Amino acid sequence: MPPTAVTAPMCKYRGRFAPSPSGPLHFGSLVAAVGSYLDAKANQGKWLVRIEDIDTTRVIKDADTDILNTLQAYALYWDEPVVYQTQRLNLYQDTVNSLLKQNLIYGCNCTRKQIKAIGGIYKGHCKALKHNTNTDALRLIQTHATTQFNDLIQGDINVNSALAHEDYLIKRSDGLFAYQLVVVVDDIEQGINRIVRGADLIEPTARQISLFKQLNNPIPEFAHLPLAVAKPGFKLSKQNYAPAISKQNPKPALISAFEFLGLPINANLMDLNIEQLMAWGVNKFNLKQIPHVPEIQISQHPTS
Ligand SMILES: [Zn+2]
Repeated sequence: MPPTAVTAPMCKYRGRFAPSPSGPLHFGSLVAAVGSYLDAKANQGKWLVRIEDIDTTRVIKDADTDILNTLQAYALYWDEPVVYQTQRLNLYQDTVNSLLKQNLIYGCNCTRKQIKAIGGIYKGHCKALKHNTNTDALRLIQTHATTQFNDLIQGDINVNSALAHEDYLIKRSDGLFAYQLVVVVDDIEQGINRIVRGADLIEPTARQISLFKQLNNPIPEFAHLPLAVAKPGFKLSKQNYAPAISKQNPKPALISAFEFLGLPINANLMDLNIEQLMAWGVNKFNLKQIPHVPEIQISQHPTS
């Protein structure tokens, strides 16, 4: 019997771009949007947009609208209605309930400080203590630890075994569902079968694969794009104030994103309009052209 209430619609290529509405799109997020879009369209697939607003403490008012307007300014048009995680809490709770029924979840009241003191990886301290699962943070018993997977761009990835076997949080003590849970439930429910995103998310991927297995669903293919970094180890992010990309003049940043993704750009591209430019990108895109590296340093922020 399938151990979950979530079921996946079977279909051809379905990809997605899933920004968190914590600020405007910057060049790094544009690369993820364009990379996922081009790969979907080059494979005659659907491209979905999901607003990952589950962590409401990080949401900036109207950032979602700004992100969607920016995508449209870059001719990045989504194929199905935009989904918001905060409008799908019942879906996540159904999954938690299903796992609770199978005794795969336990309550945990350990503090972050306590876990740090034992080396940062949770050792199942609360598993036998039968805490209240209505009030405490919830941990999922790891039954499908994944220590290795293949990435379509980055190759074979090995994961720290202790981390892979950890019973991790799926609901926080403040009541918020954990990102690791919702992202997998969303991908299952939306029928996503290839995930193209930035290499900053390569580390949690093994854990997500284990959850796909635990929820008895097929595992999508993963392709982690190189990260745009200002200098080695420093990715462009909202947190380090990477500048917003221009909505008024999108062509230079789009061409820079194409170049970043290994497309054979040329000077004549500036003569195309934004729709023609995106069509050219779809036509020229090939996942194999993308540099097989975790990060690429960009000399300047292509913002205008
Ligand atoms: Zn605990």
